[in-house]
Amino acid sequence: MISVANHFLYFIFEKINKMSNVNAYAAQAADSPLGPHQITRRELRPNDVHIEILYCGVCHSDLHTARNEWANTTYPVVPGHEIVGRVMAVGSDVKKFKEGDLAGIGCLVDSCRECENCKAGLEQFCLEGCTGTYNNPERDGSGMTYGGYSKEIVAREEFVMKIPGNLPLEAVAPLLCAGITTYSPLRHWKVGKGDKVGILGLGGLGHMGVKLAASMGAEVTMLSHSPSKKEDATKLGAHKFVLTSDEEQVKGVQHYFDFILDTVSAEHDYNFYLSMLKTDGVMVCVGVPPTPAQIPAMNLIFGRKSFAGSLIGGLPETQEMLDYCAEHNIVSDVEVIKISEINEAYERMLKGDVRYRFVIDMASL
Ligand SMILES: [Zn+2]
Ligand SMILES: [Zn+2]
Repeated sequence: MISVANHFLYFIFEKINKMSNVNAYAAQAADSPLGPHQITRRELRPNDVHIEILYCGVCHSDLHTARNEWANTTYPVVPGHEIVGRVMAVGSDVKKFKEGDLAGIGCLVDSCRECENCKAGLEQFCLEGCTGTYNNPERDGSGMTYGGYSKEIVAREEFVMKIPGNLPLEAVAPLLCAGITTYSPLRHWKVGKGDKVGILGLGGLGHMGVKLAASMGAEVTMLSHSPSKKEDATKLGAHKFVLTSDEEQVKGVQHYFDFILDTVSAEHDYNFYLSMLKTDGVMVCVGVPPTPAQIPAMNLIFGRKSFAGSLIGGLPETQEMLDYCAEHNIVSDVEVIKISEINEAYERMLKGDVRYRFVIDMASL
């Protein structure tokens, strides 16, 4: 008996030993600032990749979740889903990565991998519900997922992206959420040469929208109510700027755009922008205002216009986007911060005081 018990204890000890204790930054409650916290990462499974995190972008969703603004947060929560790092170890069945490779993780770390959406490479729409990189229950019931505000992460190989080596890593990190969120609708609606594209909102998402749409050959117009954005929009690659508080300028773009990408998450009137679409024009929203939209059917019927939504992108498209950005030399404009500056960064983000994405240097953790 004693030997069986000893054996069992040894087995448990071995298991715990193989899990890694990892430094992280977490929010313990909706009204408390983020601070140091320890988490464990699971023992490497045959399909897993173990990554040392080098940089993690700061997305507005991190703030919403840390402060329980979507009323679904389980504490403690470790945010972060714009993760870039280096592979420390791989499971025995991993084919795509080896130790030392660059690797990235975006908004998803798992899905059912069997439903029609997963099979079509649309894991973000998994019919069983995909597993978010943080604040989501693990599919095996072992607890909650913890995100990129941490030193290391373990995830299934399919959910780990290849990171091109020719781009600055800190500026690649935001591509994993802000980049794919804007790339996917531009690709899905086949935006290309000669198309007239309006980008609404110049933040983390909007600045990627401008860069990507311009790189695809579209004529890009920045739509903004603040004249101070004009210079930056031009630098990012916008061809035109329309001040939406100027009646004359707004008149000039009635029935003008083939496609409008709306990245604004504050309340605003969609109808004002729908009137700028050509016949068969499409307006896609990727921002989430707190109140429901009111759109009279007539505003869509006249001109056969479409009003649609889009959510990040699936795994194949996320890899395609990273490869596209490597080829076209596209990265995010970032301000690198230390992990200890994250609470201040959240406050600045709320004021729009960032050009255009904070990225945490994980060496500071
Ligand atoms: Zn995000
Ligand atoms: Zn699925």
